[in-house]
Amino acid sequence: MSSLAPLPLDAPGSSSAPADILHEVFGYSQFRGPQQDIVEHVVGGGDALVLMPTGGGKSLCYQIPAIARQRAGRGVSVVVSPLIALMHDQVGALHEAGVNAAFLNSTLDWEQTQDVERRMLRGEITLLYAAPERVNTPRFLSQLDSLKERGKLSLFAIDEAHCVSQWGHDFRPEYRALTVLHERYPGVPRIALTATADALTRADIVERLQLEEARQFVSSFDRPNIRYTIVEKKDATTQLLRFIEREHEGDAGVVYCQSRKRVEDVAVMLQGAGINALPYHAGLDAAVRQKHQDRFLREEGVVMVATIAFGMGIDKPDVRFVGHLDMPKNIEGYYQETGRAGRDGAPADAWMAYGLQDVVNQRRMIDESPAGEEFKQVMRGKLDALLSLAEASDCRRVRLLGYFGEKSTPCGNCDNCLNPPQVWDGTDAARKLLSTIYRVQQLSGISFGAGHIMDILRGKETEKVKQFGHERISTFGIGAEFSEVQLRGVLRQLIATGALAVDAEAFNTLKLTEGSRAVLKGEANVTLRESVSSPAARGGKPRREKAARGAPSPAAAALDADGQKRFEALKAWRAEVAREHNLPAYVIFHDATLAAISERAPATLEDLQGISGIGTKKLEAYGTEVLRVCSAF
Ligand code: ADP
Ligand code: ZN
Repeated sequence: MSSLAPLPLDAPGSSSAPADILHEVFGYSQFRGPQQDIVEHVVGGGDALVLMPTGGGKSLCYQIPAIARQRAGRGVSVVVSPLIALMHDQVGALHEAGVNAAFLNSTLDWEQTQDVERRMLRGEITLLYAAPERVNTPRFLSQLDSLKERGKLSLFAIDEAHCVSQWGHDFRPEYRALTVLHERYPGVPRIALTATADALTRADIVERLQLEEARQFVSSFDRPNIRYTIVEKKDATTQLLRFIEREHEGDAGVVYCQSRKRVEDVAVMLQGAGINALPYHAGLDAAVRQKHQDRFLREEGVVMVATIAFGMGIDKPDVRFVGHLDMPKNIEGYYQETGRAGRDGAPADAWMAYGLQDVVNQRRMIDESPAGEEFKQVMRGKLDALLSLAEASDCRRVRLLGYFGEKSTPCGNCDNCLNPPQVWDGTDAARKLLSTIYRVQQLSGISFGAGHIMDILRGKETEKVKQFGHERISTFGIGAEFSEVQLRGVLRQLIATGALAVDAEAFNTLKLTEGSRAVLKGEANVTLRESVSSPAARGGKPRREKAARGAPSPAAAALDADGQKRFEALKAWRAEVAREHNLPAYVIFHDATLAAISERAPATLEDLQGISGIGTKKLEAYGTEVLRVCSAF
């Protein structure tokens, strides 16, 4: 733990006005979006539910009220967070800004725990981070009781609040018990925050956490700097490698895969191609996981290949791409994961490869799960929404935002906007496929898989076709003009829209549904994206190229030659400080802050004032050093 002396947070002259805290402590000149309203509401003692996309700036929404209320003599704010592995860095970042923060979790030994508890009980700690399972212990609750009695229990912040909902993708049963906070300390304000929430999850959070009275702050979920691309899966790992080599050489990124095995394989493949890749999944030793996470946060240009076990709470600002080699379960998951790219606001990519097998796998996982039928229905609905996003030929962002209840216009920064896909009318092919499935079922009394159905339609006399006498079916060969790729596209689309079902219990065979009828009768049109291998192949505009190999971070791109030198020197200095403090470099200063310093070429401490990201404490701690580093140029 840090040995920082308690700071005079409530010393005379330290203002509890939110704008002053924003400026003094964090070094920022303005609140972003709804931050100011939220902060004022919570400082005033109101409950709040905050829905903001990843990177929107949620942390300040509870950190500033905590500081303001501490300065006004109200004591300790408790931050409930499931992110034990990140608490050290989160608290470290607050120390860097001069805020008294601490955490209580299983990584502390007995003595450290007691030290934190003592300081907490004296009301010295402004922000105390704790995992939900800790909050629910009798020991912790009795400590809160003691604080409460003395009027030193200021605020509860419940981070990653969607963990309370089983509709969300990170359900944590311990979150359910957090109702104790409201029941036991009714007068203490609560702020719950999340980056995921469709209407269903949101309603669940309100109900489960008893936030009926809380004011809801819903921000726009748009992340304009992220470019969405969804490609058809051919050889997914090769497609991924090309994407990284073409557009993200040397960049930090995250690649999500469905299984542990696949994570391992893909990491090895990328390493073999000279990419600094590391695996991360729940099957790895905790120490290895922590080490890989630390390397991802502390080194530059690491590509993390991971299952969804990785990423919640990762606040690394300069992740330049997030890839999905397999389709996630739903749009919430996809949006949360892709949202980890480009928190710094600079251009970033969300890239996904998707294919028929993904649809089949996800359906099977739902069908085979032990959950109740109602739950499965909800999950299928959510999967369908993601499938239609993947199949869409119009703006991806319009659809994504639409899913979260937001209206928008075509964005100009997704694959479909940049290279409008050719569409073709697949209605005829769809009818032929469905009637083949129908006739085969009639003739043989059993269902068959996609490959066999396509063979019949395309008139291929395979062993299996002959074995079952399927060359006698009236649709045999009447779809010879369609390629297999085209037919696969039609099948995916039919499954995505519910006009066809995959029976997981019977070898993934295809079954007609209620929804098949409209297509068979020619009442429903089926429009498909033209299948092509790459944007270049369809003659579209070339994609963004990196400025140059080894180009500086986007933040520094506009600097002149001397500025670049200062920037590089500052980065080297920052790396040293970060190592000494055992913190990621961006916790000391963001790239954007170093770029702003480099541009200003400061000669005095005054010159540093007003640069975004330099608060009072950092100016005091690092100002002179920064000037020394800059003076060399
Ligand atoms: P979230 O938790 O919503 O994903 P964070 O709280 O981590 O987002 O904030 C994202 C980034 O934006 C952080 O680097 C943070 O320092 C920065 N940030 C937040 N609010 C402001 C602001 N008002 N002015 C400048 N930068 C901000
Ligand atoms: Zn678009």
